[in-house]
Amino acid sequence: MAKLPLNQLREQYWVSQLNLMLNTFAQGTFMLPEVQKSFNEKRTKIAQTYPKHSVDGLPKFLFYRQSLSAFSDANLAPFACQLNSGELSLGMFFPDIEAMDQIIRREKHDLQKMDFVVRTALTIKFLHEFDHMALGEIDEAAIRRSIEDTIALEARVWAETCRTTISLFVEVYGEKLCFSDNLFYTNWIKCGRNAQSQQWKDFIAGLYGKLKKV
Ligand SMILES: [Zn+2]
Repeated sequence: MAKLPLNQLREQYWVSQLNLMLNTFAQGTFMLPEVQKSFNEKRTKIAQTYPKHSVDGLPKFLFYRQSLSAFSDANLAPFACQLNSGELSLGMFFPDIEAMDQIIRREKHDLQKMDFVVRTALTIKFLHEFDHMALGEIDEAAIRRSIEDTIALEARVWAETCRTTISLFVEVYGEKLCFSDNLFYTNWIKCGRNAQSQQWKDFIAGLYGKLKKV
């Protein structure tokens, strides 16, 4: 049997990981019950916001062999949700997901816990997209959105992700976060879990302000 090139094997790996995550959450069997409960609430909201554009609150899964290059390394975003031709979709970007994996594996984490750190990061980024969809804050014409609007939008959505996902991983389950997720969490705590605070808005602006250079 001919061997597949490494790139193709990695693509298959990430497609299977994402399908597994989507199916696990959709079937209600994610291993951390509080995170599952949080997902169920997001799904219900999506079904209400996009009744005709989703299948019972679930988007269609797409896989892209191209980088989501509008985002800098400091803010790795291997996923994006969109409303395309009336259909809600969640896309995974292949070079970005691979880059995220490699960056986390170079961080100083306990080697035995490394796979959990990567899986937690993947889940957080995945659920962040569900927050975009649950809040109705999705990209329809992201290109035309100003940097100020993007910052305001991401400040709202990341606050929701910190409140309904990241804090559960840390405070309920004691999971270790990768560097970038930890940055979101520590800033969320520092600003008193207040999405309206200037401190929170400044933190998000610091991350997304880099988009100006692109
Ligand atoms: Zn976002």
